[in-house]
Amino acid sequence: LAKDQGRNNFQFYTSNLTDQAFAHLSMQTQIRQAIDNNEFIPYFQPQIDSIQQKIIGLEVLARWQTKDGKIIAPIEFIQIAEKTGLIIPLDRQVMLKAIHHFLRWRKQGLIDGKLSLNLAVKQLEQDDFFEFVNTLLCEVDCNPEWLEFEITESDIMTKLDEMTRKMSQLRQLGIKIAIDDFGTGYSSLAYLKKLPVSKLKIDQSFIRDLPQDEDDAVITKTIISMADNLGLKVIAEGVETMEQQAFLQANGCEQIQGYLYSKPLNADDIEIFLRQFPDQAKPV
Ligand code: C2E
Ligand code: MG
Ligand code: MG
Ligand code: MG
Repeated sequence: LAKDQGRNNFQFYTSNLTDQAFAHLSMQTQIRQAIDNNEFIPYFQPQIDSIQQKIIGLEVLARWQTKDGKIIAPIEFIQIAEKTGLIIPLDRQVMLKAIHHFLRWRKQGLIDGKLSLNLAVKQLEQDDFFEFVNTLLCEVDCNPEWLEFEITESDIMTKLDEMTRKMSQLRQLGIKIAIDDFGTGYSSLAYLKKLPVSKLKIDQSFIRDLPQDEDDAVITKTIISMADNLGLKVIAEGVETMEQQAFLQANGCEQIQGYLYSKPLNADDIEIFLRQFPDQAKPV
């Protein structure tokens, strides 16, 4: 503890904390302004069936596009946005824009897969969230079955009962749910069986060192067969190499997402990708 290290350290520690609190507050203000200025936009990353060479979905990943055109990644703002509740208007802004793009691409026949949206616990906890989604989908004439929500395993496990209830509501509407970052959140088989989910997303930390790392290989195979036994779909994220893809295919996981096919792209660039795939697809 800083206190144990004497007066000067304590002074240093407190002033450090103040700096941190100040930075936090200033970021909070900037995020709030950015929401008002409509600066949060969706990027899209394709999810691929690696056997059929077919695009089965697009994951929406938020980016902050500042007035001077800088693109800021979620690591810079998601945590503070979640802590302060700003994630609620932020995510809704991104979701609205993403769904509009998606419906346009569908109409043009560029995609027949799903749109996959990341959902924060705070969002699910809102009493009006279900109503918000339902109204939005009716307004823009979007079939709920075209959507999927991703919720991280650790988020689900920290509020198991409430999350299960909320997820069931969405399921009744026809929206599918995937567990994001699977393998990092300590859920047990017993729970998994009861959750109203239809897909597991294997966390990228298990994919990174495949196929060499033996522990990761065993964990990945276990998750794949667990999904299979429970009747769930499975997708691997963070797939960057042909070797990783080959390992996953050999072990029964055809669905993959990662830099091997594409980084997350803005709407214009993903549209080009959709037009070209799979003809011009160039797995490195
Ligand atoms: P996630 O949902 O697990 O998303 C996967 C992250 O891995 C994304 O980072 C993606 O850009 C990155 N990624 C994809 N393929 C590869 C690959 O082949 N190699 C490597 N090294 N990385 C890859 P990103 O976009 O920075 O997002 C980070 C996290 O922020 C997301 O993790 C998600 O939890 C959160 N997030 C992003 N957008 C939103 C959003 O709109 N709403 C909410 N609530 N959370 C979001
Ligand atoms: Mg995700
Ligand atoms: Mg993930
Ligand atoms: Mg993550």
